[in-house]
Amino acid sequence: MADYIGRFAPSPTGPLHLGSLYAALASYLDARANGGQWLLRMEDIDPPREVPGAADTILHQLEHHGLYWDGPALYQSQRLAAYQQALLTLSEMDLLYPCQCNRARLRSLNHVYDGYCRPGRSTPTALNKSEGSAIRIQVPVGYEIYWHDIVQGQCRSDLRQSTGDFIIMRRDGLFAYQLAVSIDDAYQGISHVIRGDDLLDSTPRQLYLLQKLGLQIPSYGHVPVIKNNQGTKLSKQTFAPALPSSAPGTSIERCLALLGMSLPSDAAGAPVEQLLQWASKHWTRTQIPLSSVQVIDPS
Ligand code: GLU
Repeated sequence: MADYIGRFAPSPTGPLHLGSLYAALASYLDARANGGQWLLRMEDIDPPREVPGAADTILHQLEHHGLYWDGPALYQSQRLAAYQQALLTLSEMDLLYPCQCNRARLRSLNHVYDGYCRPGRSTPTALNKSEGSAIRIQVPVGYEIYWHDIVQGQCRSDLRQSTGDFIIMRRDGLFAYQLAVSIDDAYQGISHVIRGDDLLDSTPRQLYLLQKLGLQIPSYGHVPVIKNNQGTKLSKQTFAPALPSSAPGTSIERCLALLGMSLPSDAAGAPVEQLLQWASKHWTRTQIPLSSVQVIDPS
């Protein structure tokens, strides 16, 4: 695939753990197996959640595991003007409105916004984002989104029913992940987004934004995220330990096995470069397990 461009887009909220290495590896192998480029984007637009030094740590960890990206890394903190421009474009299309619903009200809605602050209901129509208001984008009734997921197969979502009008700028004035990720996937010319299935329900929102802005729509593939023995996703919140810096090959071998690849016995213990070369050559999407992947000891 000559025009394949993939990416890994970590948030610098802490060092990589086994679960994030596994997601990075899936996107890396899919890109390399298809003769594609693999880009890196640091999603550093949420300072309250970021850990000082984590962005550099992540880059070092990737290199240490042999996962070299193409070209310079893109930092979302440098892209605020582009997000602002997209906000303006959507506002000119009359799709945006400020929302002042408080947390207690939002909690009671169970993640599906009911349009309470929509223009003509309780607030003025102008997009005057006042202190403490978020900005939402309107989603029409019956807006169904279909896509063919490379890993999960045929997917469908009625955006109004699954999320309702969603936030593209947060009440603290920060751009929402959904907006920034969509703009940058298009900006970097990403053709294939391979990531964890914890983001599967974000995809329809990103497709909606890309459609509205007339931007390039990538193919998506969502690999099952790794869970710990309590059945919860390995993440910083669930105290997944950082990847050990010794024996990077062992972590790569573990992730390859979790992705459904069985290394030939003489490859075990090989340096990461050799493991990755072998895996790029033998990668097939159909071997990715579809059910959730559990590890007993994530360290
Ligand atoms: N930055 C997001 C995260 O670390 C991932 C974004 C994406 O792959 O779309 O969860």
